[in-house]
This record gives sequence, structure tokens and C-alpha cells, in this order.
Amino acid sequence: MKITANNPDRKSWLNVVNGCDFPIQNIPFGVFITKDDIITIGTRIGEYAIDLGAFHQLGYFNGIPLTDDIFMQDSLNDFIADGRKTWRLVRNRIADVFDAENKTLRDNPKHREAIIFDVNEVEMLLPIDVGDFTDFYSSKYHAQNVAEIYNLKNGPLQNNWLHMPLGLNQRASSVVVSGTPIKRPYGQTLSKDGTTPVFGPSEKLDMEVETAFVTTAANHFGEPIPVDEAEEYIFGMVLLNDWSSRDVQQWESKPLGPFLSKSFASTISPWIVTLDALEPWRCESPKQEKLLPYLKPKNTANSFDINLNTYLETENGDLNLISESNFKNIYWTMTQQLAHQTINGCNVRAADLFGSGTISGESNKSVGSLFELTWNGEQPIKLKDNSERTYLNNGDNIILRGYCKNDTTRIGFGKCTGKIVPSKKKK
Ligand code: CA
Repeated sequence: MKITANNPDRKSWLNVVNGCDFPIQNIPFGVFITKDDIITIGTRIGEYAIDLGAFHQLGYFNGIPLTDDIFMQDSLNDFIADGRKTWRLVRNRIADVFDAENKTLRDNPKHREAIIFDVNEVEMLLPIDVGDFTDFYSSKYHAQNVAEIYNLKNGPLQNNWLHMPLGLNQRASSVVVSGTPIKRPYGQTLSKDGTTPVFGPSEKLDMEVETAFVTTAANHFGEPIPVDEAEEYIFGMVLLNDWSSRDVQQWESKPLGPFLSKSFASTISPWIVTLDALEPWRCESPKQEKLLPYLKPKNTANSFDINLNTYLETENGDLNLISESNFKNIYWTMTQQLAHQTINGCNVRAADLFGSGTISGESNKSVGSLFELTWNGEQPIKLKDNSERTYLNNGDNIILRGYCKNDTTRIGFGKCTGKIVPSKKKK
């Protein structure tokens, strides 16, 4: 089926300012609550939030097989479970109805009032009821930096790293939507002299700049997904800040890896940008050698050119650009991650979430964590207000932005934000 929604020449009768992340070529999906307390699934064009529950009720999806209440829900799970054909039909129809030449909704003020809201007057909610959450470790530059900082003995990369996308099972319950304050976690760390465990608020609270993809129900228990089929099951992507407590992590990680240092919170952006919308920015994945057959794709254009900028906003409102990275820096692709996740027969369900792992590029300004940027606190960075940071202070607001751009179109993810607040004192 042709993705007519991606037509770069299309203009909408809704005003979209230049440089906006949400032109009519984007059509992402999210969940919001209106000022009348109605929760609905919606999309966004420009500065407008579009209520797809009302849109469906008023007949604008006629001819597309959809259940009546598919969009009147507090999560996208059922819609995502409907599969790629439905996602495409729905996106194509929305593009058509909001096309500048289409009068049906444009010239119906009553319907417009029921369907279209100012995006600043709705509150974005978590778009999915997150099923399982895996976090991969798929950026080669990041893995190399980590190995170097920790002085790992097996060379720049552990000897397994180039043979499979490593990952860990994360907590789905603490995935929160952009804007949710992040309480500084308490935990057990090793005393400064390295002799005894101590308990208190984490002193090395960090961000991790990542993206994540969301799947539909993909495979039955016991049946792996072939790497060349995996993309069929990926609904779309979000920005992900996988908050990490480095001091807790350092003490608890031997030998099983991170546990409480990562599970206290992970923030995602509210609009899921479909893989279909990202299609014009598909690009070659990094060169890989000696792959086992189950990880070897026929086609090697499995990455996407997505710019990732991260800002640290201090309490005086200064925006400090601290990282400029790109999704295409990721070594293991999303399809390889999904093939690997399921090669042992593990089943994947609708609204499962898969994090990329911290996305670092080659240069120092493109690393995706303060751990790398400050070399685990050894080299503080200076901010616009002349203060210094090794790790995050209370009051710091981290803002992730992601966008794709070519000669004709720019689409983006909006913001993924989280502000650090102190947690109540524990006994
Ligand atoms: Ca991570």
C-alpha cells in the first residue's frame, strides 16, 4: 500500500509554521486529555491536537475497518495491535482530510470544533500501556567510552559486543511521559574511600539520550522473528531518556549488570512517530562484519537519519546544548534487535518498548550521557550561567529533541523533558 501521507508536496489547511516538528507529513499518534476531562487518542498537525475519537465518530474514517471505540481509549495498545495495514490506512486518510484542497472538514465549523484543539490546552499522557521494556546497548562509540572509563580488561569492546546486540530487561512500570518530574533516587553506593556501603540520595544522577521503538504483537511464544521480517512489526519511535544513577550502578552491577540504578524512571516523548513517516530518512546502517546468519539482513539500509539534540535547562531558564548526536550512529539496527530478542523464542506483544541504548557519536560533543561528557565526573562542563556540572543538580531540566530534515520536509518528535527534584528524606 502506498504511503500517500508522506507526499512532500502536500499542504494542510491547518496552519503549520516553518520548522515545526509536526507538518502534515508527520501524523504521529498520542493520547491526550482535553480541558473537558475527555481522554482520547489523537494526532497533531502544527499547533493543533486532533481528537481521533471524535474524528472517527463523525464518520471521517468511513470505509476503513475499525472498531467503534478504537480511538476512545487511554492507550494506543489496541490500535497498535491492529497492524501495519490499519496504521497506513488511518494515516493516509488523516492526510487526505487535512489536505489544503479537501473541504469536507475544513468547511464544517461544527465538526472542527469537536475535533480540533489548541495543543497547549490539552495534556499529553503516556501514549501506551507499556508491556515489556528492553533496553539495548547498541552504540559502539558509547560502549567504547564506557569500556575506556571503567578500564575494562578485554580491550575497547567486550569480545561478545560485535556479535550480538546486548541488552537488559528493564522495568515497564516506571516509564513516564515527558514533563513528569524525576525524583532523585536514594540507593546504596560505595563510600568514597571504597571500603563500606553507604545509603543516601544518588550523587551521580545522569541522563541517557536514546530512542525507543514500539512493536505490535509480532510472534507466538517459541517462534523467532526473522531479521528481514522484523520491520513489519515496528509501529513507530519515541525519544527516550533512560535516567541512570552512576554511583548506584557502579556498586550494584557486578556481576549481573544494572538493576535499581536504571529502574527508577525512564521518560518518553508523548507522540509516537510512525516508522512510515520516517521512511524518507532511511539510510545505510553502519558496516558490520562476521554476522551470524540470523542477524544478517538482505538489505542493509536499516537505519534512519534522526538528529538528536539535548539541552540542560538551568533554573534561570538558560538552555545549554550539551549533546548533538544522531540515531544513525547506532551500530545494531532495530530489526537486528528484534530478531535477537526473539531468537530464543521469547514472544513480543503490542506496545512493548525497546530502547536503543545511549546514542553517542564519535566526537566529544555528540556523546549521550554526562558519564561520557565529563568522563565520569573528572572533567566538569561549564554552563552559560558559569556554574559547572559533573552530574545533574536538583532543578536541572533535561530536554531531548529529535528531528529529520531534507530539502523539502522536516518532521520531528517534539520534546522529551524531565526535571530533577529532590526526593523526600528517607530514614
Ligand atoms: Ca540505557
